[in-house]
Amino acid sequence: MTQETLFTKIINGDIPADIVYEDEQCICIKDIAPQAPLHVLVIPRKPIPKLADATLEDKALLGHIMLAVGDIARELGVDDAFRVVINNGEKAGQTVFHLHLHILAKHTFKEGSLGV
Ligand code: 5GP
Repeated sequence: MTQETLFTKIINGDIPADIVYEDEQCICIKDIAPQAPLHVLVIPRKPIPKLADATLEDKALLGHIMLAVGDIARELGVDDAFRVVINNGEKAGQTVFHLHLHILAKHTFKEGSLGV
């Protein structure tokens, strides 16, 4: 049996996290060690280990996540300026092998925005 990833444990509620957004296909949480004033992670519920492991079967899911990034950035009030980073593979700095997108921005969280 495949071992559950850290992010699957967070998605299942077994490990606590600050959830910013969630829907049927993905979840967005605050990063535990922020590298910018605003640093959140968008994680598909499906545990694809890394971007290069995604297949045609994941096409709609990947599109869904990219659109969710825009929605989340708008909700957090940073849609005018943010960066999206995906680390693919250990040598590229990936530490959690469950696909995730980093959203980084200079703004702090907008008060009253989704879940924060
Ligand atoms: P990677 O280096 O794999 O691209 O990114 C993994 C990210 O997950 C890192 O930015 C790290 O700070 C974050 N992270 C690691 N463990 C936890 C955790 O338990 N909770 C949360 N919210 N973020 C975590």
